[in-house]
Amino acid sequence: MRIIAVANQKGGVGKTTTAINAAAGLAEFGYRVLLIDLDPQGNASTGFGVAPGDRTLTSYDLLLEQASVAEVIKGSSYPNVWIIPSNSDLASADIDLVANEKRSFLLHDALRSAEVQAMRYDFVIVDCPPSLSLLTVNALVACDSVLVPLQAEFFALEGLSQLMLTIRDIRKSANPDLRIEGVLITMADSRNRLSQQVEADARENLGDLVFETTIPRNVRVSEAPSFALPVLSYDPQSKGAEAYRKLALELVARHKKPMVKA
Ligand code: ADP
Ligand code: MG
Repeated sequence: MRIIAVANQKGGVGKTTTAINAAAGLAEFGYRVLLIDLDPQGNASTGFGVAPGDRTLTSYDLLLEQASVAEVIKGSSYPNVWIIPSNSDLASADIDLVANEKRSFLLHDALRSAEVQAMRYDFVIVDCPPSLSLLTVNALVACDSVLVPLQAEFFALEGLSQLMLTIRDIRKSANPDLRIEGVLITMADSRNRLSQQVEADARENLGDLVFETTIPRNVRVSEAPSFALPVLSYDPQSKGAEAYRKLALELVARHKKPMVKA
């Protein structure tokens, strides 16, 4: 089981879109995927078809109310994607956790339970909120690696150094083996010179850390959530769907798992 946190403290850079579509891509290739929504906005839950009224128990209950994983998990429109949804309950998590000694380890401990191990997921994808709050810290402590979406626009690289500092702190304390899965250029526009420049800068500065796959700006990607579907099923032939499938293949290749077509 490989746990990947999708994190960047900047909002609107494509974290949720990437979490949803990477999960869908991995599932299409036959892997069992658990998607965990750790953002109080609940966009990953909505985007994968778990309606707000259907979120009786959420990641909040898993982390703060001792709910079991079996109680909080929902199925999805993909036979091998399961979701732990979230809602606005999570907005108070930072405050609710202040006095909790294990506050950074709640997700870590939940995912290492015998119950989760028995569910035999190949990948767990965690969609983080747009901050370096305790929720993101929980994801970084629990995960094997971080996938960092980077929007191809001005100032994109500036926010990265703060995230890298946080990752370094967590390596020094709670999670020495924390790796950077990769930096994913999102919303790239090949006709826009600034977008090209940001991508070139990222590749020059970060080298192999940058995924070969670049996600293009594609209107089908932004339409898909309002149909509660990953773009991979909303418009399977779109440029966005193709890019996310390629990303899933890159992830699989990095973990050298035998490919099994669903
Ligand atoms: P975050 O989770 O980092 O806040 P989102 O994934 O919610 O970011 O994306 C922010 C907005 O950009 C959303 O409206 C989303 O639909 C849109 N978006 C994300 N990726 C793309 C893309 N490749 N092409 C077009 N729109 C995109
Ligand atoms: Mg989001």
